Amino acid sequence: ATAQIGVTGLAVMGRNLARNLARNGFTVAVHNRSPERTRSLIAEHGDEGTFVPGESMADFVASLERPRAVIVMVKAGAPTDAVIDELVPLLEEGDIVVDCGNAHFADTRRREEALRTHGLHFVGTGVSGGEEGALLGPSIMPGGSVESYAKLGPMFEKISAHVDGVPCCRHIGPDGAGHFVKMVHNGIEYADMQLIAEAYDLLRAGLGAEPAEIAEIFRGWNGGELESFLIEITADVLAHRDAATGQPFVDVVLDRAEQKGTGRWTVQSALDLGVPITGIAEATFARSLSGHVDQREAAQRAFPDAGEKWQVADREAFIEDVRRALLASKIVAYAQGFDHIRAGSQEYDWDIDLGGTATIWRGGCIIRARFLDRIREAYDEQPELPTLLVAPYFAEAVGAGVPSWRRVVADAARAGVPTPAFSSSLAYFDALRAERLPAALIQGLRDNFGAHTYQRVDREGSFHTTWAGDRTESPA
Ligand code: NDP
Repeated sequence: ATAQIGVTGLAVMGRNLARNLARNGFTVAVHNRSPERTRSLIAEHGDEGTFVPGESMADFVASLERPRAVIVMVKAGAPTDAVIDELVPLLEEGDIVVDCGNAHFADTRRREEALRTHGLHFVGTGVSGGEEGALLGPSIMPGGSVESYAKLGPMFEKISAHVDGVPCCRHIGPDGAGHFVKMVHNGIEYADMQLIAEAYDLLRAGLGAEPAEIAEIFRGWNGGELESFLIEITADVLAHRDAATGQPFVDVVLDRAEQKGTGRWTVQSALDLGVPITGIAEATFARSLSGHVDQREAAQRAFPDAGEKWQVADREAFIEDVRRALLASKIVAYAQGFDHIRAGSQEYDWDIDLGGTATIWRGGCIIRARFLDRIREAYDEQPELPTLLVAPYFAEAVGAGVPSWRRVVADAARAGVPTPAFSSSLAYFDALRAERLPAALIQGLRDNFGAHTYQRVDREGSFHTTWAGDRTESPA
């Protein structure tokens, strides 16, 4: 046995992760259900490091040093269970199975519990950054036991992306914590992309600008507080022209956004935990809406001219308004995402370090951004921060952006330009800061039709009013 770590599942992600490990000096056992993939990896990249190919799962497991560390990088769902079932009888107490696929955290919790009864460690690990990240340095979010991280941590930290010399990998917490954090990361990615798309749409409608001009605006924004991978590639995509037609690329792409399901998982989990992640939810629903073609066509016919003509008087001021509104809405989306992580951490006893999580998203992943440093600072200074919105840096950015935010959302509503994420983020902000919410009326209605009781502003306890009778109030 010579290999320090093994990878089974050598499609794009597994192959690149195995190459990344080998290029960093680790001896890597490699295996795939269909052995052709293993052979092609060795034929094409065998000279990049030390690989130990295994034709059968038994050969593969036998080539690993103890305690064994086996990365499973196969299609998420039933294939992951099939591979685990094949692996378990071949492993011994203390060995580690690492699932780097996009598993749902509930599946990870189930698998971790099952493997624990065999004396095995199961490490659900979120890996972000796609194909290129896997090869050149992803952001890695491992869950599982502290003992398993002692073996995996040095390897994962070495192959992950690094920012300012700090690895974009840290132990997130027990069992499903890593996959949970990866799920919320993807949810935030949904919100971030929807906000960027709305900003583009606003600029196009408000300025009557061409995509190439808007690309320049995004390029400019990337030099400031909004600096991020997504803003950078937005400029790139908007500037691109379709070779076949000479049209702007965005104008020849069908306007129906797809999803693989992590946005949906994030929203489902937030509903279970009672966390209002409205930005992520609106972003997920906006993708669904874009796909409802029949409804869209029917509504276009029924309401051909629903908005007013939009005429922006001061173009520079408008661009700055959109930038500030984008930043404020983005802060809301991240604040909600981190609230979600905190709620998951409390529910499942994971003890997740929120600032540390922001640190490992600074590189390697899709939402990498300058702004994540500010999130880390905010939680480092005040671990019990009630919401990111009130941390000094964010409070200032949001406060300074409020007039712009209101103008943009109001103007867009008048012009009939949809801004679900911008406007719901503003509504969330206004609801959080409101002195009184109409929730009081909801409580009254619930007591009226269902005797659900209510509490009072001036006395302790729960009360009920006899609505159908003499309307006297009594303690419940
Ligand atoms: P795929 O999701 O396309 O899965 C293909 C791999 O799964 C092949 O190695 C295939 O083996 C194996 N496989 C499928 N079914 C079984 C089975 N029943 N038993 C054994 N092996 C099986 O590969 P990707 O590389 O795209 O992704 C791997 C994992 O990484 C997935 O969970 C994905 O969600 C996740 N991920 C992907 C990202 C991406 O950008 N693609 C980013 C982050 C995570 P065979 O060759 O024999 O068919």
